[in-house]
Amino acid sequence: MQRTAIFLDRDGVLNQSIVKNGKPYPPSTLSELIIPDDVIPALKLLKVLGYLLIVVTNQPDVARGSTTRSMVESINSALLEKLPLDEILVCYHDDKDNCTCRKPLPGLLISAAQKHHINLESSFMIGDRWKDIAAGQNAGCKTIWLDNNYEEQKPKLPNFTATSLIEAALWIQHSKISSHINLSQGNQSEDSSRLKSKDIC
Ligand SMILES: [Mg+2]
Ligand SMILES: [Zn+2]
Repeated sequence: MQRTAIFLDRDGVLNQSIVKNGKPYPPSTLSELIIPDDVIPALKLLKVLGYLLIVVTNQPDVARGSTTRSMVESINSALLEKLPLDEILVCYHDDKDNCTCRKPLPGLLISAAQKHHINLESSFMIGDRWKDIAAGQNAGCKTIWLDNNYEEQKPKLPNFTATSLIEAALWIQHSKISSHINLSQGNQSEDSSRLKSKDIC
């Protein structure tokens, strides 16, 4: 059976970004790791709705030499310990490496989908920057932009814009309920047309 997933960007979605001159940066130490209060309830709601929770994060500062892989890994371990996440997938490359996993490319989402048998069209990507939204779109997912008010390029045509993770999770819950209602209405009209054709016979 196919699963569905919520792909989550890390910095600015699960933990606060460090904003300098309007641009977001990852926390550089564990002491800078701050998880907003609504993140745990939002993730718990998404788990109850049946989604796998998979983090997909670009960490180019490792290739740039301004942080270490072990610092990224210790922040990831802290998040895995505190939050109900299924997996954290990381791209450690920079543009010049020409990898297939750096967002906006969909490599991390596609390899997760192969591993966990995920239906990408029924899955969502939540991120705070245009590369997250483009990666979700490139993978065929629905997308939610968390608008943290950065001074930078905005994403093109996300399916929904939220200002907190709980708002995003509630929108997913709502759209799941409405798609169920639409499906059952569809079945109903199919049933009634079947009835009608029976009547004619
Ligand atoms: Mg981010
Ligand atoms: Zn990569």
